[in-house]
Amino acid sequence: MFTRKEMEAQERKCLSPYAVRSSESRGRVHPEPEHPYRTCFQRDHDRIIHSTAFRRLEYKTQVFVIHEGDYYRTRLTHTLEVAQIAETIARALRLNTDLVRSIALAHDLGHGPFGHSGEDALRDLMEGHGGFNHNLHALRIVDLLEERYPGFPGLNLTKEVREGMNKHRVSIPGEALLPTNLSLEAQLANVADEIAYDHHDLDDGLTSGLIREEELQRIPMWSQARKEVLKRGSSPRAEIRRVQIIRRLIDWRVTELIQESERRIRRLKIRRPADAQSLRERVIAFSPEMERLRAPLKRFLNERLYHHHRVVRMADKAQRLLAALFEAYLRKPEQLPESTRRRMEKEDPYRVVCDYLAGMTDRYAMEEYRKLFDPSERV
Ligand code: MG
Repeated sequence: MFTRKEMEAQERKCLSPYAVRSSESRGRVHPEPEHPYRTCFQRDHDRIIHSTAFRRLEYKTQVFVIHEGDYYRTRLTHTLEVAQIAETIARALRLNTDLVRSIALAHDLGHGPFGHSGEDALRDLMEGHGGFNHNLHALRIVDLLEERYPGFPGLNLTKEVREGMNKHRVSIPGEALLPTNLSLEAQLANVADEIAYDHHDLDDGLTSGLIREEELQRIPMWSQARKEVLKRGSSPRAEIRRVQIIRRLIDWRVTELIQESERRIRRLKIRRPADAQSLRERVIAFSPEMERLRAPLKRFLNERLYHHHRVVRMADKAQRLLAALFEAYLRKPEQLPESTRRRMEKEDPYRVVCDYLAGMTDRYAMEEYRKLFDPSERV
């Protein structure tokens, strides 16, 4: 048997000196005995996968609402792509892959239904009542809302994973915000998120027909990757060629990130995890040239995909739907499940309704809307 102690010893031997070691974790808010054959970060990873919020990611929007087709990314497949990209980079930089994977798997747990438009709607509805932010809500889920243990609320994750989830360094109510940067593992999970969505949104955008390959020719990154693919010998089939180009783009970004991060680690003399955390500057980052190259792609996706009239129409519909549900529950809380209604006696009713809505999947929210507003629908 390979015990936790042996795994921890292996980490000390194999990980780079600036990687966070599980044996040096600052622990959990509610103390628990260690597990015999899983490190604390492996255990967090398992807790996240077994959570209700994680399963719901399957039916939450990334860009395309779930009913638009089975082949688009959902929050869940997006999350898996982020975790997989982050892990590859973590291995190459000899960072703690278990910690990186846990942060990546948890990074979008706080998203409500309908992606960013859902977040905008909840933020507006919660104005004057503490607002809504998906990063903070993810922490609320893992700290409070998941109910799985007899002795404490939430998942009781390690402080390292929780800090990694708080990527924008917003202060958590009741907790002092340390004036530090994120760990290298947390910085990595962030950048991997960006690599994943840039390219899968490009892929989904092309599949949906909302954007066309010809339009991408004027994006230098795309045309360069395409040229390389054609030079190396590509398929005569356009759809395979497209996958080749996207794969080339991801590989390019990942390789560049590894090399630039390594350069920064050396230049900034990072020798321990604390060295990276005491800096203002990000260590896991692209070179300025890569950032310059990425800008036109980012702008293109923003203008042509995220603001495509069909995406905007759906986003606006989603916002109206959430606002209507929010208002209906607040006006008549008897329409809510018993356990949720009871929370309203002790907490701000706005926050309780917001938690309830944020927990919904796209399809649950749509079904609930029909039940409440369509007279011919069973309640
Ligand atoms: Mg994400």
